[in-house]
Amino acid sequence: MARYRGPSCRRCRREGQKLFLKGERCYTEKCPLIKRAYAPGQHGQGRRKLSEYGMQLREKQKAKRYYGILESQFAKYFEMANKKKTGITGENLLQILETRLDNVVYRLGFATSRAEARQMVLHRHFTLNGKVANIPSIIVKVGDTIALREKSLASERVKRVLEITESRAIPTWLDTDKNAHSGSVVRLPERTDVDIDIKEHLIVELYSK
Ligand code: SF4
Repeated sequence: MARYRGPSCRRCRREGQKLFLKGERCYTEKCPLIKRAYAPGQHGQGRRKLSEYGMQLREKQKAKRYYGILESQFAKYFEMANKKKTGITGENLLQILETRLDNVVYRLGFATSRAEARQMVLHRHFTLNGKVANIPSIIVKVGDTIALREKSLASERVKRVLEITESRAIPTWLDTDKNAHSGSVVRLPERTDVDIDIKEHLIVELYSK
């Protein structure tokens, strides 16, 4: 599966905001955005006035980076969002992105970042409705249950992840059973549940050109 392999923090600096790509480090003073809150590169500190197209493009890039998705997959999600008979396209898009299995694993506190969640799903650490699920892009539905596999609980890595994320707040569209190391989808996420500063209407404008 193709994925971006460059420096994560550079992507946050490009967007000028935290995208929480590196797990634990993002919540500490080691986050480079605290000291270098400007774009990377020689002209990073200069003023940039973006065109309308530039602003739309940046917003799309930000969303892709936040959820760790490449262009073609993102375009497919936009098509899905656009074809939905109900809802606003931009909000539908965010809902689809939020309900990817890797994002849900991250939101439930079973991984410290979305990248880690994706890797853990690929490594078969989770079940979806009782069956092993190893496809990070699966879109979960209301009523679905995601659980850590019994044998994964013995892994030192998994134990450490659970320790780190123990105090993390779980979004209200998900329900979690900490003892069973599982969680379920109680409703689909709404716009107010998505805590990132994304202007999704700019993405819609970009794809509508
Ligand atoms: Fe982004 Fe995290 Fe790096 Fe900070 S530490 S710049 S939030 S990836």
